[in-house]
Amino acid sequence: MTEPAASATSVLEATPPRFTPAEVSAIALELFGIDGEARELGSERDQAFMIDDGDAGGVVKISNLGEDPEVLDLETAAILHIGRADADLPVARPQLPLGLTDESDPASYRPTTDGPEGRHFVRLFERMPGRAAAPGSDLDDRALRAYGETLARLGIALRGFFHPRAGRSFLWDTKNALGLRPLVSSIPDPRHRAIVDGLLDRYEQRVTPAWPRLRSQVIHGDFALDNALLDDRDRVVGIIDFGDIVHSALATDLASSLSSVLRTRDEEDVFRAARLLIDGFQSRVGLEPLELELLPDLLAARLCTIVSISAWRVISYPENAEYIQAWDPGSWMLLNLFDRVGMDMVAQELGAERPRVASAELAKRRRQALGSAITALTYSEPVHVQRGEGPWLFDADGRRLLDVYNNVPVVGHCHPRVTEAVVRQTRTLNTHARYLYEPLMDLAERLIAAMPDGSGLDTVVVVNSGSEANDLAWRIAKARTGGSGALVTDFAYHGVTTVIAEVSPEEWPAGYRPHGVETVAADDTTRLGAETAAAVGRLRDRGVAPAAAYLDGGFTSDGVRTPAPADVAAMVDGWRDAGGLFVGDEVQAGHGRTGDHMWSFQGFGISPDFVTLGKPMGNGYPVAALITRADLMDRFAETTDFFSTFGGNPVAARAAIAVLDVIRDERLMENAAVVGEALRDRLRDVAARHPVLGDVRGRGLLIGVDVVDTDGAPDGAAAGRIVDGLRQRGVLVGRTGPHSNVLKIRPPLVFADEHAVLMADTLAAVLAES
Ligand code: PMP
Repeated sequence: MTEPAASATSVLEATPPRFTPAEVSAIALELFGIDGEARELGSERDQAFMIDDGDAGGVVKISNLGEDPEVLDLETAAILHIGRADADLPVARPQLPLGLTDESDPASYRPTTDGPEGRHFVRLFERMPGRAAAPGSDLDDRALRAYGETLARLGIALRGFFHPRAGRSFLWDTKNALGLRPLVSSIPDPRHRAIVDGLLDRYEQRVTPAWPRLRSQVIHGDFALDNALLDDRDRVVGIIDFGDIVHSALATDLASSLSSVLRTRDEEDVFRAARLLIDGFQSRVGLEPLELELLPDLLAARLCTIVSISAWRVISYPENAEYIQAWDPGSWMLLNLFDRVGMDMVAQELGAERPRVASAELAKRRRQALGSAITALTYSEPVHVQRGEGPWLFDADGRRLLDVYNNVPVVGHCHPRVTEAVVRQTRTLNTHARYLYEPLMDLAERLIAAMPDGSGLDTVVVVNSGSEANDLAWRIAKARTGGSGALVTDFAYHGVTTVIAEVSPEEWPAGYRPHGVETVAADDTTRLGAETAAAVGRLRDRGVAPAAAYLDGGFTSDGVRTPAPADVAAMVDGWRDAGGLFVGDEVQAGHGRTGDHMWSFQGFGISPDFVTLGKPMGNGYPVAALITRADLMDRFAETTDFFSTFGGNPVAARAAIAVLDVIRDERLMENAAVVGEALRDRLRDVAARHPVLGDVRGRGLLIGVDVVDTDGAPDGAAAGRIVDGLRQRGVLVGRTGPHSNVLKIRPPLVFADEHAVLMADTLAAVLAES
């Protein structure tokens, strides 16, 4: 058999010390002044004795002759560090020998004694309360989670710790798993050998290349049940052995705890128990995706380490076989289980990402599970998205798609500020608005401050969707006006609730018009005032008094329009004069998209009674808001106590605040103005060369481009082909307007010039080909 590298195994190769209990009693008295009977505890490479002096007692450890004193100092320094970092962690501390008082010098804690074969270091540790885990009895679910949490705390307490010898090379460190290869031939059963060989191959392929990227620090290295003392509820009350401490990947610490806790479980319970322990760990320290992906391989490597070292050592120390092989049966149970279910499945069971599903299969499942009313997938070849970053989406094949379509990720897909705000708050607290917490007030006050001076918009209700905000506005408007009539543009969309679907003509079936709803044509916006007067007249004729008019300041569903301020003012004034209230629906055009103002209504010089926000507000986290005046709210409150369970929860509030912060910090409104203008110029250049493109219009980064036939009439079919052609070339654009012939361009506001160039060039390429 080939021997492993000496540096990794010197402690394993050297003969363990063989002092008798009587000798150890004498040594303990001489060195530490502790007088009691010694009882030997099991150990693989050292000797450990419990000294019972009738009082607190202690544990004496006599080191192997191969032990490096600096490694003992590393252990001691780490324990002292943990005491400073987390004094409540129940770590057994070393005791100073007689005559020494320098508590800060780790070397003070290791006097020596001479044995027949040489000089051994001797340490005395405080005796911890608790008992060893009862053999064969498993931790219950709460104890499992608590165990994981204690391990995570241990890791946190060691984060700031460094010692040069922590870089030692050591076969028990999973980092050296491939150093086990020469030992594998000691495993007697060829089938077992094949399992270990296969797992080491897999380790070499998957873990070795990723190792440089795994989060690493000094870790305990063996937080196993054998190194823990438990109370009567199986909670850890003593951590007793730092002999495997090393600088390594943090996830290997979790792997060694798992290997210890799982090996006594019933097979059917292994993965469930593992997940609970991992939950406990993650209650303190979230695992990174790479750690979750590799955790099963690290766990398997740990088990391979156990069985390989034991097979190798038992040849040299047959008399200690019982101790050396104590963990083998459970380890083989796990290794056999992993072999049977396959490591990819083990990874999934432990929480790694599930494998991707083919797009066609996913579409079929979507149709089956979500039913027929759910909106159709966009594009002839649907986009199967995996992740997003800034203005980019990445599909299942890893292909990058420029997102010129989505106004929800206003500050860019997965912006770190928003993501972290959500994750942090989710970890800390998420509850509802019947309790006090700061984020909701911070958000409400930010929104009020963001309304124009003198608008009187001083009251905020945070809800969960644009629909809900518009719905609430409707209820308040009805309470205030006593009316039930609504006015909207003739292809508007304002949401999904029963009431708001009625004011969303875009969604009406052909020939449908609710009794109380009137519309104004939006294609010729100079007529908005006159259309409003006529609409009010029609309502009056039907005996309907005005309640609320809704206007999306971007006219997004109407094909993106840019009316003159006076024309919008004429609409609002005409409606108000008839007794109605006015809702500025900023769900599409708010949050700086129009480039000129934070809210699109400001560009029209009008002052709404209600402002509704949604889509971009949480950059994808569901959060929306209604902002109105206290007098309107007070009237509503006379008859209503409003509560929406998720509305304004702390996480939603944090997301919304982060979005406002990023828009400010990255000057995204200004960016929308500049890049939007440049993009329109480029699109006009393309339109000049391709008659299928007509008018190019918009404000900021909300842009509409007409697609027309040779007579200049709207051509929805051609627009559909263009949008599909862009999608094929990696640019995502939508369609809007009553004829679906308007290219809807509303990218995240982090859109830069280079993206505008790519967008316009790609459009030109699509048109050149058609
Ligand atoms: N108002 C406008 C202008 C919208 O575009 C939308 C959504 N497209 C809504 C309201 C409804 O918002 P939500 O989908 O969040 O209910």
